[in-house]
Amino acid sequence: MIKLKGIAAAPGIAIAKAYKIGKDEIEVLPQPIKPEEIPIQIQLFEEALIATRREILELQKRIATEMGKEEAQIFDAHLLVLEDRMLIEEVISRLKKEQVAVPYIVSEVLKKYIEVFSKIEDEYLRERIADLNDVGRRLLRNLLGKEQRSLKDIQERVAVVAHDLSPSDTAAMHKQHVCAFVTDIGGKTSHTAIMAKSLEIPAVVGVVEATQKIKSSDLLIVDGSMGVVIVNPDEETLKLYEEEAKKLKGIAERFLVVKDLPAQTLDGRKVEIYANIELPEEIPSIKLHGAAGIGLYRTEYFYMNRKDAPSEEEQFRAYKHVAEEMNPAPVTIRTLDLGGDKFLSQFEMPKEIEPFLGWRAIRFCLARPDIFKVQLRAILRASYFGNLRLMYPMISGIEELRQANQILKECKEELRRDRIPFNDNLEVGVMIEVPSAVMTADVLAQEADFFSIGTNDLIQYSLAVDRTNEKVAYLYEPAHPAVLRMIKTVIEAAHSHNIWVAMCGEMASDELFTLMLLGMELDEFSVSSLSIPQIKYIIRSVNFSEAKEIARYVLTLPTAYAVEEFLQKKLKMILKTE
Ligand code: PEP
Ligand code: MG
Repeated sequence: MIKLKGIAAAPGIAIAKAYKIGKDEIEVLPQPIKPEEIPIQIQLFEEALIATRREILELQKRIATEMGKEEAQIFDAHLLVLEDRMLIEEVISRLKKEQVAVPYIVSEVLKKYIEVFSKIEDEYLRERIADLNDVGRRLLRNLLGKEQRSLKDIQERVAVVAHDLSPSDTAAMHKQHVCAFVTDIGGKTSHTAIMAKSLEIPAVVGVVEATQKIKSSDLLIVDGSMGVVIVNPDEETLKLYEEEAKKLKGIAERFLVVKDLPAQTLDGRKVEIYANIELPEEIPSIKLHGAAGIGLYRTEYFYMNRKDAPSEEEQFRAYKHVAEEMNPAPVTIRTLDLGGDKFLSQFEMPKEIEPFLGWRAIRFCLARPDIFKVQLRAILRASYFGNLRLMYPMISGIEELRQANQILKECKEELRRDRIPFNDNLEVGVMIEVPSAVMTADVLAQEADFFSIGTNDLIQYSLAVDRTNEKVAYLYEPAHPAVLRMIKTVIEAAHSHNIWVAMCGEMASDELFTLMLLGMELDEFSVSSLSIPQIKYIIRSVNFSEAKEIARYVLTLPTAYAVEEFLQKKLKMILKTE
């Protein structure tokens, strides 16, 4: 039995066999051949190319019917690799020259390609490395007659172990038997971790060398709440965790009873509990958990896994669908937030040393009004069909808000001219996720309809800690007094200008902070689907006056540790779990 420590990314406990994907490379040894064998080897290579192509096309067809056309488009890039003339010619010429069996030549040529690509350090090209890796492994398996492993082929309950999973990999897990995942790299609020939460799969990320230490078919206990993975547990540990898993399920059921009741304290303070979504397919799940609205609809995923940008019409249909599905409940659409750890292949993004500090989110949109306007027009048109709100990510000061609103105004004028209906009173909010926005919240509040605090970014920018980097994850502290003071400042600035404040970062989903945030007078918690019942339960179990007292005291504490310890104690008392 070994115990591996990582970062708790999505809560819950799963016990299942490991299913390794991705990095388990196929080792091919050089096998000399005679010159007369060269034509046969070329034929083998061509047959493997055809078989691989057929496999990918079949997979693409299946994904298109199961999950939709956009998801299926991921495989277009794989097909392109198979048709790459340079790659094919290099294999054939090296085969002739080196006289070694073709699997070895193919693996060498692929390695060389991957090496060249990885040196360029461009996020777009890094995505192509994943394609090359994926298609290369398929090709080699066909050459060697080995069995194929893919996320889509999983038939039994497994815990997926991978070096990393892209948001599209994670999205593809939806309908499979994946009950947990473990990755070598990544941080708590990396977008892969966020996807795991919305899929309700326990996940531990940033487990150093997980793919080295875990073998396929090892039995794993994945504790996504504590960030622990136990490999081949002994009888006693297994029993302990089975009981713990049962207990967790019981707790979840205990909270679920309040899911349709209002989020109201014992003494009558009412707040809103909404859900964060990445994909419209999550709507049934958030309704099931009692979401009274959507506080953050991340629209980037709509642009992902495709070659072209979604058109106004396509976006309009998607947003209209979400608006109608939720109506009359509100839906807050966040405008395109690409950059950071989310890159889209259809736009040319320059290579940046610090992508989180670079050409991201609203900065990109303001520089590319052609792209921005398509989305704004689509949102405005959809606003006619439901209760939509709009918010801009990464606003760092009032000028950016004004510029964005100016573009929005132009879109409204265009729609008016074309006699296309929209809600002229659509509320426009600002995400507070940059320290400069916190410090000028009083100025921003005069021109915004609401704020939504994006703690995932606010924490990384305030504490200078890359949210995706597991090496500095220990410094990523939501309970840091600096972060708490910022939240307080934002809420006070908003309220003194009569606007309301939401929080849509992962901190709002963490039950440890519910009492404190309630006491700081946060108006809206926008959380991951799974967290809704528990957060609601906590709010319904306390007096607002008590929560205010807790918030007041917490703000006097000097360290994150002291804050967490205190909040832990209070939470246990409220939930009577002590
Ligand atoms: C945040 O930064 O807290 C947030 C909600 O936005 P994202 O995680 O998409 O950057
Ligand atoms: Mg953010």
